[in-house]
Order: sequence, then C-alpha cells, then structure tokens
Amino acid sequence: MTAPPDLLVIGGGITGQAAALAAADRGAKVEIVDFGRNAGSAANAGSLHVQMQSRFLRLNPHLADNLESSLPLYLSAVTAWEALDVRLGGVELTREGGLMLAETPAQMAFLEQKAERETAKGLDVEILGQNALRRIAPYLGAEIIGGELCRNEGKLNPLLANNRMSDALTAAGVVIHRDRIDEIVDGPVPEAHGARAYRAKRLLVAAAWGAGSMLRTVGLTIPTEPEPLHMNITEAGAYEIHHLVQHAERSITLKQFRSGQVVIGGGWPATRGAGDSVPGVRLRSLAGNVALAGRIAPGITGLRVLRTWAGYNTPVDGKATIGPVHPTSGVFLALPGDAGYTLGPIVGQTAAALALGWEPPLDPEPYAPTRWAAAA
Ligand SMILES: Cc1cc2nc3c(=O)[nH]c(=O)nc-3n(C[C@H](O)[C@H](O)[C@H](O)COP(=O)(O)OP(=O)(O)OC[C@H]3O[C@@H](n4cnc5c(N)ncnc54)[C@H](O)[C@@H]3O)c2cc1C
Repeated sequence: MTAPPDLLVIGGGITGQAAALAAADRGAKVEIVDFGRNAGSAANAGSLHVQMQSRFLRLNPHLADNLESSLPLYLSAVTAWEALDVRLGGVELTREGGLMLAETPAQMAFLEQKAERETAKGLDVEILGQNALRRIAPYLGAEIIGGELCRNEGKLNPLLANNRMSDALTAAGVVIHRDRIDEIVDGPVPEAHGARAYRAKRLLVAAAWGAGSMLRTVGLTIPTEPEPLHMNITEAGAYEIHHLVQHAERSITLKQFRSGQVVIGGGWPATRGAGDSVPGVRLRSLAGNVALAGRIAPGITGLRVLRTWAGYNTPVDGKATIGPVHPTSGVFLALPGDAGYTLGPIVGQTAAALALGWEPPLDPEPYAPTRWAAAA
C-alpha cells in the first residue's frame, strides 16, 4: 500500500488550488479530489473586492457585522493575490482602485457612513464629489453624482488565472482525481469516500457549495447553499474603465479586461439547476444587468454582448471559515464565505499551513470553525 499524501484537498476551485499549490511549493505531497462541476471559480468575474459590497449589506443586513469584521482579511487577500500573480507568471492583475457610485443624496450618505467604518478597519477609501469623480473616471454617465473610491481594490483576468493555476499545479506534481466525495471520516489518517476511498495525513475541505453535506458527516452544520448568479462579457472596446465599478444601491460590478472586453455582473439572479446541472440564465437578468451598465458607463452601449452565463456563489455567512473541525481533528476547512475568488488564495493558503503545522500567513482565530460547532 502506498503512503498516504500529506494533504488531500477536496474541491478544486481557487481556494483548494491555492491551498494545494502553497503546500506543494513547500515540499508536501498533495492530491486534489474535485467533482468538476459548478465551480464558482470557473464562472467568476475577476473583481478583487475589498470595500463592503452594498449588495451584500442590502440582502444580508443581519450578517453586516461578519462582513465588517472580515475587512482585514480582504486586505490580506489582495496582497496574497499580488504574490500569486508573480508565482503564476502574470494574471493581468491591476490595483487601480474600486469605485462605488451614487445617484442620489441618500446613496451618498450611505457611502459616507460606510467609508467611515472602512477607514476604521484600515482601508484606504475616500468620498469623491461629482467633479473629482469625473476627473478619474471620465467614462461615467451624467446621473452619477459622486462615489467612494477604495484604493485597495483591483481586478484580474480569471480565465488566465485559472489556466495558469492549472499549469502550476501540474508542474508542482499535484495529482488531481475527478470524483464526488459523499462522506469524510475523521481520525489519525482521515478518509474521504466517493466512488473510491481516499486516505491522507490531513484533509482540507474547500468544496464551497458542496462542503455543507460532507461536513454533516463530521458533526458540523454549515449553510453552504449555492446562490446562482448571472454574468455577461462584451466584445472589445477602447480600454477606458480601469477601475472595478460598483453601485451604492443597485447590483452591479463592471470592469474592463486589458483586451477591452467589458465584464458585467454583480449579483443579478440566475436559475438554480436541477440536481448537479449548471444554473440557467434569465433573460431579465441579462437585459437588466447590461442596461444598468450602459447607464453607468454610456460609452459601452454600442458594444455587443458576446457571452452570457451563470454560476454558483457560496456566500455562507459572509465570513470565512478556516481551520480544523476541532482542535485535534485531521479535517480542516477553507471556505471563503462570499467574494470567494478574492479571498480564495489567502483562505486556502492559511488552511493549508494550519493543516501541515506551518506558521499561517495570518491569525486564523477569528475564522475558526468553532462558531459552527457552537451553533450546532
Ligand atoms: C457569476 C459569479 C461571479 C463572481 N464574481 C466574483 C468576483 O468577481 N470576485 C470574487 O471575489 N468572487 C466572485 N464570485 C464568487 C467566487 O467565484 C466564488 O466564491 C469562489 O470562486 C469560490 O471558490 P472556491 O474554490 O471556494 O469554490 P468553487 O470555485 O465553487 O469550487 C468548489 C469546487 O468543489 C467541488 N465540489 C463540490 N462538492 C464536491 C464534492 N462533494 N466532492 C468533490 N468536489 C466537490 C466543485 O465541483 C468545485 O469544483 C463570483 C461568483 C459567481 C457565481
């Protein structure tokens, strides 16, 4: 019988991949087992979020404290992405800041309060009036009366990042199994059971929407309900939108890749797929999302939408879950808890370090899974 790997990562999205790569780079023997379906990482828009997203605050006011207390994690996350950008050989990462826009005085007041809270957590934010905003973002429409600039934010090209990550994992010798895990068994050499059994010195669960059901088998109840979301990308136009653009009250993220293509998303709903099938797009989301984008940045209205798609986000409770199921467990969790493409690398790297007994890149205590054990 061959020796079990040091680490078996369940879930091969950005979180699991970053965990696996960090462990393999330090000499660990690593395997990934991934179902190969519905990874949010394969559907995402490449926004590097840091400021609190108005959409999350609007839809989940009861989870606002979780989001706010996580702001230091977001700051670490963009630093982790900058290092990963170098490690992967460039993923078109830029950090020219993110704008959250207002069209009414009430929205400006909301942004002013939000900016105060974010400044207290160490974010580099500033409220801009209409003229100051126009100077840095001349592409904005006439209805925009001001906004919040968060200089920590940025964007990257997720297609490039995912391809480069896949190449890096292969080069680092990480073995990838295509399987669906139904059950995990904790113990000195924990096991994961799918079409076959996998053993490893440590298990790391980074399965996003798939984590909840498998964690019930080790006594944790975590709500990893998938949230089906809509996305669009246009043909290429002149490269003018350098910021990540959001709105104080409406659901939107808007940005431009270096190619000039405009990526439009930000939380318009899609339809949940039956069973394990992919989520379906809604015409109303396609039309509403691009119409709003055209009002915000009128210069893009002549561009045709080339592709539209839907994918699963896994917001959990708006706060990451990182660490062992219990202090002596061999099973570790890496769940970003919203904005998971931004948070995935830092969450995965921290969880991998804890699983392998290395110094983690940040204090994981605020994100410990014990809050779920207490809830159960
Ligand atoms: C349309 C859309 C746009 C988004 N845009 C952004 C953005 O711009 N910026 C941002 O920060 N975030 C964004 N997100 C959120 C982000 O994509 C996800 O939160 C993030 O990718 C989660 O990464 P992950 O690796 O934790 O999980 P995922 O990428 O979802 O990967 C989980 C993997 O686990 C596998 N799996 C599940 N169950 C099992 C099982 N039982 N056994 C084995 N494998 C299993 C799945 O098949 C999948 O491959 C967006 C999400 C969507 C849907």
